Amino acid sequence: MKELNSNAKIETKCLHSGYTPKNGEPRVMPIVQSTTYCFDSTEHIAQLFDMPTEFMYSRFANPTCDVVEKKIAELEGGIGAMLTSSGQAASLFSILNLCKAGDSFIAASAIYGGTINLFAVTLKKLGIECIWVNQDETDEEIEAKFKDNTKAVFGETLANPALTVFDIERFAKIAHKNNVPLIIDNTFATPILCRPIEWGADIIVHSTTKYMDGHAVQVGGVIVDSGNFDWTSSDKFKDFTEPDDSYHGVVYTRDFGKMAYIIKARMQLMRDFGAYPSAHSAFLLNLGLETLPVRMKQYCENATQVAKVLLASDKIQSVTYPALETDKSHKLAEKYMPIGTSGVISFSIKGGRDNAVRFMDSLELASNVVHVADIRTCVLHPASATHRQLTDEQLVAAGIDGGIIRLSVGLENSQDIIADIKQALDKI
Ligand SMILES: *Cc1c(COP(=O)(O)O)cnc(C)c1O
Repeated sequence: MKELNSNAKIETKCLHSGYTPKNGEPRVMPIVQSTTYCFDSTEHIAQLFDMPTEFMYSRFANPTCDVVEKKIAELEGGIGAMLTSSGQAASLFSILNLCKAGDSFIAASAIYGGTINLFAVTLKKLGIECIWVNQDETDEEIEAKFKDNTKAVFGETLANPALTVFDIERFAKIAHKNNVPLIIDNTFATPILCRPIEWGADIIVHSTTKYMDGHAVQVGGVIVDSGNFDWTSSDKFKDFTEPDDSYHGVVYTRDFGKMAYIIKARMQLMRDFGAYPSAHSAFLLNLGLETLPVRMKQYCENATQVAKVLLASDKIQSVTYPALETDKSHKLAEKYMPIGTSGVISFSIKGGRDNAVRFMDSLELASNVVHVADIRTCVLHPASATHRQLTDEQLVAAGIDGGIIRLSVGLENSQDIIADIKQALDKI
């Protein structure tokens, strides 16, 4: 087969990017479930320790994972990617690749609860400060929060579960003006609905556990490097521009050019922390990626129908779904996600926590799970689950109250999903 034309559309890339079988090779990307690789000489292996140009150990690179990394990099419009064993590991490494003890970074307050814990509690213990900002603040207010030691800005395209749309272009400008990269968690949008690099983002992270996999069969993450950020433009990123003692004096910007960030992440962080997925997990993720475009469009269509039904119900206090014209993020959604805003809807039931719980326990088709963005419709009560560790103040900042339910509309027939919701609403 011939390599895929780089002008191919995203649906085609989802199927063909990353793997082109040669004469007689398997049509489907093989699972290379091996920790190690054989070499003819000691000298060859010694060279790999100087410069890992081939697969040598599956703690930080593997041929099956490599195919999926190349595919996701293509989908996001980046120049390189690295899989991680969870979305949390991707978020952690995206920051640790830039910040060390004594540094700070800026993050939007409306992000995933697990990321808030990681940033506010665990990174703080490592001496890295997270400075929170709110999208409602003006450019001047946000810029005033930058310090000399600030190394990045972090936001979520479509916040989980607040479902606010992040103004990527605006924050990219603010970040670049202050000589730091913009990192975007693009989990809910996926590159089918939004490609943040096209709006100026520098680094993309995903929990591939969600829509990318879609089938609830693997936990995983990925970091994508746009290759666009110039690490030499200020003296903020000395770890990129000065010799790495742990790697024979490698200088990432000098030796790897535009790939500096993603190669540094692999050579330092993945080598030392080893949060790399198995080949089998990457294989499962790839199956999800193959159908991602078809699924994303259908999630958007089903969720739009469900959101309209919720909006019309007198038992519902409010519905957050940015694709709806009534939504406060609608303008940003039109700009960044013209196809739609995924299958996730959050809504607040009148009567607060008690009614929310009664509604959820009355559902028959939708499952009550700690998951989201699955092919099967599911629900979660953030205040008592994913966001349980948050203080009341953090809950408000993340846009959550006790009556809020996060509904992840799946790919069942929308009439069946709506019938289930209606019967559960009748019970409150
Ligand atoms: C789930 C999620 C994560 C964490 O991913 P895991 O794969 O569960 O570790 C990070 N960001 C967002 C937006 C998520 O929804």
